[in-house]
Amino acid sequence: MPEAIAVPTAGRSTLTLLAPVSGVVVPLDQVPDPVFAQRLAGDGVAIDPLDDQIVAPCDALVRQVHRAGHAVTLDVAGLEIVIHVGLDTVLLQGDGFHPLVKTGQQVRAGELLLRFDVDAVARRARSLLTEIVVSNVDRIAALRPRSGTVVAGRDVLLEIELVGADDALPPNGAPDGAVTSPPVVVASRTGLHARPAAVVAATARRFAADLRLLRGDREANARSLVSIMALEVGGGDTVTVAGRGPDAAAAVAAVAAVLATDLDAAPGSAPAAAPPDDAARSGQSTPRMSRESTAPAGGARADGVLRGVPASPGIAVGQIFHMRHDEVVVEERGAEPAQEQRALESAIAAAHLQLEGLRHRLSAESDPDHAAIFAAHQELLEDPEVLDRAAAHIRAGASAPHAWRQAYTSQADRLQALDNSVLRGRATDLRDVGRRVLHSLVGESAPVDIPPESIVVAEDLTPSDTAALDRTRVRGLCTTMGSATSHVAILARGLGLPAVAGVDPRVLSLAAGTRVVLDGDRGTVDPAPSAGDEARVAARQAADAERRSRELAAAMEPATTRDGHRVEVVANIGAVKEGARVPGVGGEGVGLLRSEFLFMDRRTAPDEDEQARSYESVARALGPDRILVIRTLDVGGDKPLPYLDVAAEANPFLGERGVRLTLARPELFRTQVRAILRASPAGKVAIMFPMIATLAEWREARALVEREREALGVAPIPIGIMVETAAAALLAERFAREADFFSIGTNDLTQYTLAMDRTNPRLAPQVDALHPAVLRLIEHTVAGARAHGRWVGICGALAGDPQAIPVLVGLGVDELSADIPLVPAVKARVRSLALAECRETAREALAAGDGAEVREIVSRRHG
Ligand code: PEP
Ligand code: MG
Repeated sequence: MPEAIAVPTAGRSTLTLLAPVSGVVVPLDQVPDPVFAQRLAGDGVAIDPLDDQIVAPCDALVRQVHRAGHAVTLDVAGLEIVIHVGLDTVLLQGDGFHPLVKTGQQVRAGELLLRFDVDAVARRARSLLTEIVVSNVDRIAALRPRSGTVVAGRDVLLEIELVGADDALPPNGAPDGAVTSPPVVVASRTGLHARPAAVVAATARRFAADLRLLRGDREANARSLVSIMALEVGGGDTVTVAGRGPDAAAAVAAVAAVLATDLDAAPGSAPAAAPPDDAARSGQSTPRMSRESTAPAGGARADGVLRGVPASPGIAVGQIFHMRHDEVVVEERGAEPAQEQRALESAIAAAHLQLEGLRHRLSAESDPDHAAIFAAHQELLEDPEVLDRAAAHIRAGASAPHAWRQAYTSQADRLQALDNSVLRGRATDLRDVGRRVLHSLVGESAPVDIPPESIVVAEDLTPSDTAALDRTRVRGLCTTMGSATSHVAILARGLGLPAVAGVDPRVLSLAAGTRVVLDGDRGTVDPAPSAGDEARVAARQAADAERRSRELAAAMEPATTRDGHRVEVVANIGAVKEGARVPGVGGEGVGLLRSEFLFMDRRTAPDEDEQARSYESVARALGPDRILVIRTLDVGGDKPLPYLDVAAEANPFLGERGVRLTLARPELFRTQVRAILRASPAGKVAIMFPMIATLAEWREARALVEREREALGVAPIPIGIMVETAAAALLAERFAREADFFSIGTNDLTQYTLAMDRTNPRLAPQVDALHPAVLRLIEHTVAGARAHGRWVGICGALAGDPQAIPVLVGLGVDELSADIPLVPAVKARVRSLALAECRETAREALAAGDGAEVREIVSRRHG
C-alpha cells in the first residue's frame, strides 16, 4: 500500500495524497458551493464519487470526525486535510453516514474511514461531490491534482508542494530514490498500444523521477509514448516499473497501478492489430458492403482490377494523382547548439499551434474523431525520447532540422519494424508530425496543387495530407497501406468520399493522370476501365443523383402508403449540430439521440449544465412539434469510456453496458436525467433507456426520472425503452403496461438473437437483421405494445434498409428512425408501398428460413 510520501526539494517538501474515494476528479472551482469554490475551507480538489467508501489518503492522525459523520479531518505533521462528503450533508445530521474511525486514531493510507449510503444521501443532499482540501493554505507552495477517474487508495490524487521545513513530514521510504515495482500484469487486453501507452506516459510525466518499463531484457522510457509502444507489450504480459529520483516511490506506484488497469481504447480509435478485412466493422450500418465477393485484399484480379479493402463507400471515376512527400533538403551542421535548440523549440511550438488550430476547427465542425487524431499528434510532439535524441544530435553539432529529422525518422523506423499493425500505423503519425516541424524549421509549407477530379493515390495518407487537400477537387482516396480502421478511412467517410485502403501496390506505378474507377463498396481500383465501364459508372452516379434530388424534393411530404397508412420517419443523430439538419431533409423528429457523443473524447463526464445546454439546443433546432427521443448514456461493451473505470470483463458485450452501467453509477445517471428534464420544456422531449433486460432495471430507471422530475418541478415527459434484448421483446406486453413507447435497436437485437458479434468482420455477411428470428421478436414487440396502445419505432440500421421497409411496415411498426441522409429515401420507399401488400410480405417473411430468403421474398414482391 503506498504511503504518504514527503520528498525534500530545494527547501520544500512534497506530500502525495491518494484518492480517498473512487470517482471522477472535479476541479474545486467547479464545486457549486462558494465555501469550496472560493477556497474558503482550504485548497484541494473534489471527487464525484462512484463508490460509498472513504479511505485515508495517506498515513495520518484522525484529528476530528464531524458529529454529522459527513467529514473527517486528518493531521499529517501539522498539516490539516479535510475530507468532506457531499454538499449540505451536515443537514442530514448523520443520516446515511457511518464513520469507522475515532478522533485520535492513527490510520494507514488506504484504511477505511467511513461508509455512506449513496442512494439515501444522493436523494437528500444537494450533491455527492466530495471535497479534499488542505486547510492550512499558507503552507501550500503548489498543488498538482490529477484529472479523470481515480480509484480509492490506489491512484494518486494530489501532490502538494509545501513551503518550509524539509523535515516536517515523515521520511520517504526510498532514501536513494531508487524503487522497483513487483512484476505487474498488463491488464489492457490489447496491450500497450497507442491509447494505453499514452495514459502510461502521461502518468509518468506527472512525476519528476526517471521511470523505466522493463520487459525481459528490453526497457522503455515510461515518459515516452513511442518508446513504450516500441516495447511491444501485449495484454497479459508482465512488466516491471523502475524509478529513480525524488518522487520515485509515488511514481512507480502510480504507473504500476495504471498498468494494472484496463485502459483499452475508446471508440473512434483504431482497434489493435485489426485484420485488414476490418472493412465491415459496422456490418449493420453497411449491410450491402459486406455481402460483396471477397478476393483477397492487396491483389490483382485476372481482369487487371486491383483489389484492396473497402474503406469508405461510393464509386468514382477520376485521374490518378500521386501524393508523394518530397524530401526537404537541410544543412547537416548547425550553428551554436543553444541557437539550434531554440530554433527547434520554436518550430515545435509553432507546430503545436497549428495542431491546436486544426483541432479546434474540427471540433467546431463536430468532427471529434479527426480532432482526436491531431490531439494524438500534439502528444507525439512532447515525446521525450524524440526530443532527447534531437537535443543529443544538436549538442553533437547537428543543425536543428537535421537533428530533428534524424530523431523522428529513427523512432518512426523503429515503430515501422514492429509486428503490430496499429503500432506500425503510428510510424505514419510520427512522420507526419515530424515533417510538420521540419517544414516549419526550414520555413516551407507543403502546398498541394491537385488537379480537378483526382483520385489521390499514396502509400499512406496522413491526416495533415488530407487536411491540406482541396477537397472540391478530390473524387476518391486510395492507399496501399492501412485498413478500414486507418485514418484515411475515417477521414474519407467523414468527407463522404469513396476510399479503398490496402490496395495492390501496383497502383503506385500507374502513370499520373491515368483514368481509373475507384469502387469504395467493393474495395477495387480498375486501372483500365472500358468506355462501357465508365458509362455504367456514370449512369449509376447520375441515376443515384437524380433519385436523391427527386427524393429530396418530396422530402417534406409525409410518408403515407398508397393505401393511406402513415408512418413517421425520423432521424438518428449523434451530435448537437446534426439536430438542425433534420428538418431540412424532411425528418419528422429525432427517434434516437445517441447521447454518448457528449461523453466521448474527454477526461471527465460533462456536468449537468453542459448537458442541459446541448439537449436544449437540439430541442430548439427541432422546434415544438418534432419529437426528440434522448437515449441515456449507452456505453460499455464495444463503447468503453476510459474515465468510467469499468472492471475488465471476459464478455464486455454481455457485461456492464447500457442502463446497467448507469444504474450502477447513480450520480452520473442522475446528472444526465436532470439535464434532459431541464431541457424538456424547450421542445417535445422523450427519454429512453438502452439495453433494458429486466422489469427491475426499467422500474429503477423510471423511478429515478420521476424523482428528479418532481424535484425539478417540470411536466411529465414520455419515458420509453429500447428493445435490444430478446428478454425485452418477449416480455413486451409486460413492459408496455408501464412504458410509454418502444424503440427497437435492431443492431443489438440481431447480435444478441443470433449470438454474432456485430463488430466481427468475418461474421458480417451473416449478421442480417432481416433474419426471421429477429422479425419474430419485432412482431412480438409490436403485439405487446398494441395491447396497451403504445407506439413502436425502429432505430437500428434496419430502418434505413430499403429491403427491410416493406417488412417493417407490414409488421405494424409506427416509426422509422434512420441516418439523416437516408430520411428522404425512407419516406419515398414508404410512399411506394401499400400496407395490405406489406402485411402479406411480412407474413411470408416470418415464415422464411433465413435473412437471405427474406430478401428474396422482398425483391420478388417489391423489386
Ligand atoms: C441498436 O442497437 O440498434 C441501436 C440503435 O443502438 P446502437 O447502435 O447505438 O447500439
Ligand atoms: Mg444498441
